[in-house]
Amino acid sequence: MSARYITTTLPYVNAAPHVGHALEFVEADCYKRACVLAGEEAFLNIGTDEHGAKIAEKASEAGLTPQAYVDEYAARFKAFADTLNISYDAFTRTTNSTHIASAQEFWNRCDDKGDIYKAAYEVKYCVGCELEKTDSELVDGKCPLHPNHEIEIRTEENYYFKFSRYEQALLDLYEKNETFVLPKERLHEIRTFVKNGLKDFSISRRKEKLSWGIPVPGDDEHVMYVWFDALVNYISVIGWPTDEATFAKWWPVTQLAGKDNLRQQSAMWQAMLLSAGVAPSAQIFIHGFITSGGQKMSKSLGNVIDPMALVEKYGTDAVRYILLRHVSPFEDSDLTPSAIHDHYTAHLTNGLGNLVARVMKLAETHLSEPIERPADSPFPQEYWDLLHAFEFNRVADYIWGRIQDLDERITREEPFKVVKTDLEKGRALIREMVTELYQIGRLLNPFMPATNELIKQTILENKKPENLFSRLDA
Ligand SMILES: [Zn+2]
Repeated sequence: MSARYITTTLPYVNAAPHVGHALEFVEADCYKRACVLAGEEAFLNIGTDEHGAKIAEKASEAGLTPQAYVDEYAARFKAFADTLNISYDAFTRTTNSTHIASAQEFWNRCDDKGDIYKAAYEVKYCVGCELEKTDSELVDGKCPLHPNHEIEIRTEENYYFKFSRYEQALLDLYEKNETFVLPKERLHEIRTFVKNGLKDFSISRRKEKLSWGIPVPGDDEHVMYVWFDALVNYISVIGWPTDEATFAKWWPVTQLAGKDNLRQQSAMWQAMLLSAGVAPSAQIFIHGFITSGGQKMSKSLGNVIDPMALVEKYGTDAVRYILLRHVSPFEDSDLTPSAIHDHYTAHLTNGLGNLVARVMKLAETHLSEPIERPADSPFPQEYWDLLHAFEFNRVADYIWGRIQDLDERITREEPFKVVKTDLEKGRALIREMVTELYQIGRLLNPFMPATNELIKQTILENKKPENLFSRLDA
């Protein structure tokens, strides 16, 4: 059995869970569930990134110790993932002691390699990104992602990682595997970034400025820069460096990340792995952002789409469906409450819900007993090809094509009339249709696991279900 290890990018806990986190969680979970259906053994890592200056600041604003603050946020993110029915195998917190030990050993390996040095530098820094910025990344002297923050000029003596040493190794990595980063436009973007020359990046902060971090091994005056520590979670969670067997079983990883994480995941992290003598990741899938009404969501604009409110109104599976089918896996996508409502009504109440009711009404009326549980037929290659390209929306299009075909078949072949002239022929027709409904349910499993279960149940009981997706007011 092949083993597949999938990870999301750990959310930084300076803000509440939002629809972007929901998107990444649901995509990762859909991918994992599909791999399991294909007979693979799969492991999904999610969790929270809990160190750094911004966390310490937020904690003090809230009148909490950093630990109490991150405990609260970790619990919130966990509940959020549970509400979305995410089948995670680990919830990694970067403040746990195993992770801390692993991050320190990772530092030592990079240090042994000669890739860590101390130097004083003046840097342009965006507090919003918690990243240094080069002039070419700034627009009118400001970070395009955080135009409201002033870019800070910082001079300090820090430890640096010899990123510049890994230019050619990274280019070779991208050259060898042209789907290492998906979509290919993002691979092109990161290749261009690396080709333009890499600057060593700072990986520590002085403790007097920031105590909320992992101590640098052998230097009491410094703690690790939050990125350096957090990235190591992808290997610490599967046993690196102490549990070699578990690590060897799962590594390398398939990563999901937002487009604001392209550089960290596909260049910085990969160089760090090379330095520590660990193989690179298997693949990195970069998704876009969700806007609403054509604008970035913000409280002041009043256009924030709250995934928990959506779950309350439409149910978990409906929200998973919307995120997987009506959000592009790669491009930025727009969602508004009215568009969400229209998708729900057209494709779940009418499309899927209506089909299940129609088929099961026929079965309940004309079959004297449930059909025998059908054999699980293999999924078509098209399904897997699209899935492994992370084109969740197109996989869903394929499933809704099957839904429409079955709906049209009922209208065309009229089993409700056939039973009147030839009962056995009509029943055989209905059994075929119920069997197809069963297969459609299985195809839906990675997207809408609870709905798959309900469809199976209704078939095995030979009973038309209560409304799967109630008609709701906008
Ligand atoms: Zn920024």
